[in-house]
Amino acid sequence: MRLRVLGTRGSMALSLKNRSVFGGSTSCYMVTAGRETVFLDAGTGLLTAPVDFPAPPHILLTHLHLDHLLGLGMYPRLSKAGEETVIHVPVGPGEIPAVAMDRLYSPPFWPVRLQACGGDVRFLPLSFPLHLGSLTIEGVPGNHPGGSWIMKLCFQGKSIVYATDYEYEPDSFARLVRLAQDADLILYDGQYAAEELEKHRGFGHSTPDYGLRLLEESRAGQLWVIHHDPGRTDEDLLVREAEWKGKGIHFAREGEEITL
Ligand SMILES: [Zn+2]
Ligand SMILES: [Zn+2]
Repeated sequence: MRLRVLGTRGSMALSLKNRSVFGGSTSCYMVTAGRETVFLDAGTGLLTAPVDFPAPPHILLTHLHLDHLLGLGMYPRLSKAGEETVIHVPVGPGEIPAVAMDRLYSPPFWPVRLQACGGDVRFLPLSFPLHLGSLTIEGVPGNHPGGSWIMKLCFQGKSIVYATDYEYEPDSFARLVRLAQDADLILYDGQYAAEELEKHRGFGHSTPDYGLRLLEESRAGQLWVIHHDPGRTDEDLLVREAEWKGKGIHFAREGEEITL
């Protein structure tokens, strides 16, 4: 199983020289497992993704905040005639995925609906477990304003946990620890430093400190801090990352890849 970080900036995309190491594109991660391709969220990082795959790609949305959706509007795959892309949309009971997506992707907010871009775009309600070939994806609810899903991808004995847009809270943290048990890699929302958390209580984001606790309690292999605050420069992030050296914690960078 291979993971490529396409975008790991939180909340808002930006392009500045002093954000070039960690990148300015918002949440998007591409996982390749055998013939299957899964995108975890569809932030602006999706714009640099490949467009051709051995099997139709599946885009899994953790929640519908803009920083996780804005790549869809300009992703060329969605306008390739005859090419199928499946988008799994988190909706409540009775809600229709296409209607939920049309709220953003239709006039006046966007000129065209995603299903009218020219490709074969299909929407499904996000549900777990999801089986794609030998790839299995489980999910549990996280803790974020409006809700968000935490996902675990398992393939040939390896596993990745994706816990973005998550704020610590005891019950959901216990669920997360159970889900992440012995995972090979955890991607974890570390938007804030511990000393900033009080001021941002209820914003729905976490810290590397809770990431370390998750890493230890789940006995996972390693943890990458993701969803970097737009206000952080490369220098800020490098300094913060150095504080966690030797503890199994790494700060994710746009463009990097790992094979598990
Ligand atoms: Zn976000
Ligand atoms: Zn969010």
